[in-house]
Amino acid sequence: MSEDTTDTYLFDITPTAIVVIIDDKLVKLNQAAVSLLEASDEQSLLGLSVNDFIHPLDQPRSQGRLRKQGEAWTNAPSKFRIHTSKDNYRMLLVRSRAIQFQGQEAVMISGMDVTEHNEMEEQLRLSEFNFRRLFENMQDVYYRTDVRGIVQKVSPAIRTVLGYEPEEIEGLEVEAFYPSMTDRDAFMKAILEFGMVTDFPGRMLHKDGTLIDISVNSQALYDDEGQFSGVEGICRDVTQRKMLERELQRLATTDSLTGIANRRAFLEYAEHTFKSCQRYQTQMTLLMLDLDFFKNINDQYGHQCGDQVLLRFAETVKVELRESDLFGRLGGEEFCIILQQASRTEAMLVAERIRSNVQSLMLTSASGEVIILTVSIGIATYRIEDDRLGRLLERADKALYQAKSHGRNRVTWEA
Ligand code: GH3
Ligand code: MG
Ligand code: MG
Repeated sequence: MSEDTTDTYLFDITPTAIVVIIDDKLVKLNQAAVSLLEASDEQSLLGLSVNDFIHPLDQPRSQGRLRKQGEAWTNAPSKFRIHTSKDNYRMLLVRSRAIQFQGQEAVMISGMDVTEHNEMEEQLRLSEFNFRRLFENMQDVYYRTDVRGIVQKVSPAIRTVLGYEPEEIEGLEVEAFYPSMTDRDAFMKAILEFGMVTDFPGRMLHKDGTLIDISVNSQALYDDEGQFSGVEGICRDVTQRKMLERELQRLATTDSLTGIANRRAFLEYAEHTFKSCQRYQTQMTLLMLDLDFFKNINDQYGHQCGDQVLLRFAETVKVELRESDLFGRLGGEEFCIILQQASRTEAMLVAERIRSNVQSLMLTSASGEVIILTVSIGIATYRIEDDRLGRLLERADKALYQAKSHGRNRVTWEA
């Protein structure tokens, strides 16, 4: 290194560490090299072997490169791990070439500190690895569609959720997997309006033809110009949960013996119908039914037989009802029916048919005795002055009481 040349200035000011070695020993270092090796000054490093700084695992490679120096004038950049004087680890990008130094064969090595860059790469690799693992193993389906609704990417969970391989789905329109366009349209409307949806319910078509319930968390994607460019999200199979919910709902609203609406569900529905009657001035007729002398049946043939009779009674009534009618068990041997849009004559006909069919039931006890069953029915119909459902129920109850007191096994219209 001659004095007062551009080379010397460059050697002094470059942020790249540069060292010169002769026979593997350090004979010259620039300031950047001294700093990189965390030494107090150049003097303290002179005469040390370059190998002392190189990570043991990288030493064979380093020595190989130095040996080849004579043959290949300049060698390609390569990464080496080194230890500083303070024993800190650094990753260097190193390049070297043979030179003449003070009349001797020497090697000039330049090293750039790429520790942080390397760590960042490592971090990236790790997070990419973590993402992959998550992507491959999560039970929910990750998916991305483009602006036309074509599936760009879908995670392997799609195998268990829809029964397809990811490759079978990628490139196809997502619409193909919805049973109805209504579901898909509702989803797209929400996405475009709010930019995202959470726990959005829907259904999809499994490869085997069955319908599955899904819940979707998604967000709209936009390009650099802010234009909508697709959707990305997570789709969860909630079929089991929905089935359980439906079963719980069924259990909570049906009478376990007869399978018809229980008191709570019936009254809820009656309230609903009553409100709509008030609003639209439509017809609503209520039939209150109570089995006659039912206690005797229990007493004579046992509670179990009584249950069977209740079941047969409910089946007999159901036959006479239409889809829009509601039949519920208010408790014990008391039942109630709502007929919608039925005239007085129609309501009387239905009630009378029920009464007569119940009387004609051929019921026998376990020991073969014939059981006589009859029912009393009270009927009331919605009046414009009814301010609450209770009024209608009271009048039907009163009519039922009349039927009972006039000898039972009869139908009585409210007074
Ligand atoms: P009435 O003609 O005046 O209605 O006489 P009844 O005997 O039918 O009326 P009461 O109210 O005296 O008796 C109703 C009976 O219904 C009493 C009760 O033990 C019975 N019961 C209520 N719920 C059930 C049930 O789930 N299963 C059975 N087997 N019996 C029930
Ligand atoms: Mg009774
Ligand atoms: Mg009763």
